[in-house]
Amino acid sequence: MTAAPADAPLTYPFEHPPEEGATIEVADGIFWASLPVPFVGLRQVNIWLLRDGPGWTMIDTGHGDPTTRMRLEHLFATVLHGRPVTRLILTHFHPDHAGNSGFVAERWGGLLPLMSQAEWFAANLAVRDAYTDSIEDREVFHQLHGLDPERAGRFRRDVLLYSAGVRLPPAFERLIEGDRVSIDGVQWQAIRGGGHSPEHMSLWCADRRILIAGDQILPTITTNVSVWQTEPLGDPLAQFLDACHRFEKIISPDALILPSHRRPFHGVRARLHALLTHHQARLDLVADGCAEPRAAGELLNLMFDRPLDGHQVGFAMGEALAHLNHLVGLGVLDRLPVEAGVQRFVRRL
Ligand SMILES: [Zn+2]
Repeated sequence: MTAAPADAPLTYPFEHPPEEGATIEVADGIFWASLPVPFVGLRQVNIWLLRDGPGWTMIDTGHGDPTTRMRLEHLFATVLHGRPVTRLILTHFHPDHAGNSGFVAERWGGLLPLMSQAEWFAANLAVRDAYTDSIEDREVFHQLHGLDPERAGRFRRDVLLYSAGVRLPPAFERLIEGDRVSIDGVQWQAIRGGGHSPEHMSLWCADRRILIAGDQILPTITTNVSVWQTEPLGDPLAQFLDACHRFEKIISPDALILPSHRRPFHGVRARLHALLTHHQARLDLVADGCAEPRAAGELLNLMFDRPLDGHQVGFAMGEALAHLNHLVGLGVLDRLPVEAGVQRFVRRL
């Protein structure tokens, strides 16, 4: 086997995702299943089943709805060869990943999902319609940031509640950055991400050169990086860019990347560079857009040329603010005093 050049373009070893109810063995003992999600742009989420001694380790659980649970039962009946799921690992708290964690934990005799503490706390707040999932607070925040009434109405109509798609187990086991998890006798290391969720964990196997990336590195689509009303001055984009640089140092250029959405790929360096370039271009666009004072909601037409459903409007506002806050941190923009109830930003002279 020859090592790929560091910046080789992306290649996809599997042409199609697995069919409904089927899996693809992407590497020895690692099985890929694709599950549907109710989010328009996202379409599907990947879960991974890893042969692990007398049992299986499962990574993520899909969105918590009856159809997905039926699909999981089918996978359990066909892929596991009669062996139990003995460990559950969650990359992060989002509903398409943690949705069935309560179901899976209970189904396999009270598993404690292995996940970071911040993700566990975030999940437990969001499932109570609090934290990022207080819709009322999000609407107030959108208004402050200049979202127009038409899009605000669309958001109210389409937004999907976290609590509608997630049931959590009563307890968890804490996964800490750098922890090593032995799966089938091979060490996997927990690597903290940044920018997408509070304490996202990817799993890196240096011996096999495989990264279970979660949502931290995706091919063809970009990871959502949003400012939420619970941390209005946050700079998640700085954390995301920092994570790209950290991953570049840790992950071998020829590693097989197993992302949570779309297909497995080779070419991590090229992807990380593309993500850094993408966000730099977005920052330039937003900085130029703020030659005159602008609110986040007033930048959506500039930043998103595709139609957004109401759920996506929420993500788009979060993304716009992530770029605005990052530019304030860089000293490129000023955050102006709130005027007539709207927060605007302007390019520094
Ligand atoms: Zn996510």
